[in-house]
Amino acid sequence: MKITERLRKPGKVFSFEFYPPKTEADSKKLFDTVRDLKTLGPDFISITNSSTGATPYRTVDLSGLIKAELGLEVMAHLTCIGHSKAEIRGIAERLKAMNIENILALRGDMHNIEGRPPKKDYRYASELAADLKEIGGFNIGGAGYPEKHPEAADLDSDIRALKTKIEAGAEFIITQLFFENRFYFEFVEKARKAGVSVPIIPGLMPLTSYKQLCNFPNMFSVLLPREVKENIEKYAEDKDSLLKFSVEYASRQAEDLLRNGAPGVHFYTLNRSKATKEILKNIR
Ligand code: FAD
Repeated sequence: MKITERLRKPGKVFSFEFYPPKTEADSKKLFDTVRDLKTLGPDFISITNSSTGATPYRTVDLSGLIKAELGLEVMAHLTCIGHSKAEIRGIAERLKAMNIENILALRGDMHNIEGRPPKKDYRYASELAADLKEIGGFNIGGAGYPEKHPEAADLDSDIRALKTKIEAGAEFIITQLFFENRFYFEFVEKARKAGVSVPIIPGLMPLTSYKQLCNFPNMFSVLLPREVKENIEKYAEDKDSLLKFSVEYASRQAEDLLRNGAPGVHFYTLNRSKATKEILKNIR
């Protein structure tokens, strides 16, 4: 089912994001995790893609396999900066052959393709969305940034770029993770004022290790509230308490988002099931 069709139906939409594993052992683990999370009845799952363009078929093949073997609705992420237009057409055809109807159209991170010869066919995700729309048959999503994309001068210009992406073909938006809901609500309000009317699904990620606390805020250019920082520092050596705090915090975030109009929640699972399972149990 196309995600937009599901979004039109009653009920909140829940989805889980996974990344393609590198080894066979990790592949097996991933299938176990996806099977485990399938019991929660997600509306769709998504599979990330590398920005480099070096391994697009890992995402494509894994998406097809999960859909065929586990019967889950899948959204494949597709980045464009590492690809030529001809390559994108090839990937899109293969996704179609695997019955994948939903694509998250992304630019990809520039620093990931440093040192590789640029393909020059794509500069922005909106150009990919336009090409996918022309190819036809896909429900196209795009990324949004409640705390603005790190390269954007300000949130207003980023929202103008978002609008261009939607005009080009994106029919729903999934946001970057954030830890303070006010960023999501302000973003949605500004986007609506700018004429963006498509559903905007918030993305949530429970931090489950001290290492993530050190890396993620910088990596994703998001602010970390003092409460989260202090608790994760406090429980750096106590995994169970840390998980308990993160689950409780993300559950609170999710409840507030859903109560105040978010159409659903997209969970960044990092290929693990425990935290996401607990949060969904809490909010349901
Ligand atoms: P764009 O929408 O093209 O925006 C990139 C920048 O260009 C922004 O600053 C924007 O304001 C600006 N811009 C856009 N259009 C214009 C224009 N017409 N004129 C001027 N400026 C413009 N990365 C991966 O490598 N693989 C993944 O699987 C992946 N999945 C993701 C999933 C989600 C939900 C999110 C939020 C991000 C994901 N990313 C992924 C990260 C993403 O690739 C990076 O954030 C990347 O830097 C930007 O991608 P984008 O699609 O948002 O780009």
